[in-house]
Amino acid sequence: MKVDVFSLKKQYEELKNELKEPMEKVLMSGGFILGEDVGLFEQEFAAYCGVKYGIGVNSGTDALFLACLACGIGKGDEVITPAYTYIATSLGISMAGANPVFVDTEEKTYGIDVSKIEKAITKKTKAILLVHLYGHPADMDPIIQIAKKHKLKVIEDCAQAHGALYKNKKIGSFGDAACFSFYPTKNLGAFGDGGMVITNSEEVKDRMLLLRDYGRKGRYEHIIKGYNSRLDTLHAAILRVKLKHLDGWNEKRRKNAALYTRLFKESKLDIILPFEADYARHVYHLYAVRVKNRKEVMEKLAENGVRTLIHYPIPIHLQECYKDLDYKKGDFPIAEKYCEEILTLPMYPELTEEEIKYVAEQLKNICSNI
Ligand SMILES: *Cc1c(COP(=O)(O)O)cnc(C)c1O
Repeated sequence: MKVDVFSLKKQYEELKNELKEPMEKVLMSGGFILGEDVGLFEQEFAAYCGVKYGIGVNSGTDALFLACLACGIGKGDEVITPAYTYIATSLGISMAGANPVFVDTEEKTYGIDVSKIEKAITKKTKAILLVHLYGHPADMDPIIQIAKKHKLKVIEDCAQAHGALYKNKKIGSFGDAACFSFYPTKNLGAFGDGGMVITNSEEVKDRMLLLRDYGRKGRYEHIIKGYNSRLDTLHAAILRVKLKHLDGWNEKRRKNAALYTRLFKESKLDIILPFEADYARHVYHLYAVRVKNRKEVMEKLAENGVRTLIHYPIPIHLQECYKDLDYKKGDFPIAEKYCEEILTLPMYPELTEEEIKYVAEQLKNICSNI
């Protein structure tokens, strides 16, 4: 049997007929840039998250970058953010001209360690940019409390957590702005790059509208030096169809995760399984476990047809691109340790019970022979 870590083919086959008409409509209309579906999807997705405004942009990275600018973050400012995440989180901060200030990982949920945030605050700190990593919500209440106390903005990186709940409320509805990616393998993915910023602030919304479209007011009047970062109409039309399926897909991810967890517990494997906090509804963008002898486990799984990945092998503070910030090994021990142990198993809604059982069986055989 072959099991891939992600697979988009089954989903496309299931949606093919449903997508035909909306895609054809865009192709026939010629309104490829900021066409009708963009505004409709912005409204629908913002409403889904329980937030007033949505502003489509061309990637999750740009959503982060432009949200920072729209929140007034710029040159010389500091933004507190986790050391353990995808590089795009901190690149968004850097693109805005600010410096990321890293904080270590919370041991169970893989999110930012809230208890270490206050120590990282300086006079230059403008915001906390947290990540709902792997689909598990960050602990928002204490984060908001710290932000209020120190008058900081809160920006949520929701790229891995479309539809996840914190205390029964959608993530993305807590911060001054929240950033989504519609990269194809995300829980809600386009057929290319795409992203969105959502916000309840009219001011952030108005700035975002300028920033993503050349700072334009009217056709040839430009009131700020803006960018070209728009969500394509074609992707918006596709995402409108897909949004109707998001809750169902997340439910399937949760079911798949529950089956993995049950099988691993039954076979008493010596691996660390994902954790779901009491406050959280996890949407399992990734099902990541921690294993000893990762390299060997990965190789043996691959020999048996199971493809896995590492999210992430290098913590952000040790990335070469951030050597100017003078962080060193040992600064964030939890993040560094997890980078050595973490392993992403196959996870997507269409994964079958047989496939999950096969992966669990292979992992059991491999771990009992190491
Ligand atoms: C995917 C991802 C991004 C970036 O999104 P793109 O659409 O690929 O630019 C940002 N942050 C996190 C945590 C991600 O997983």
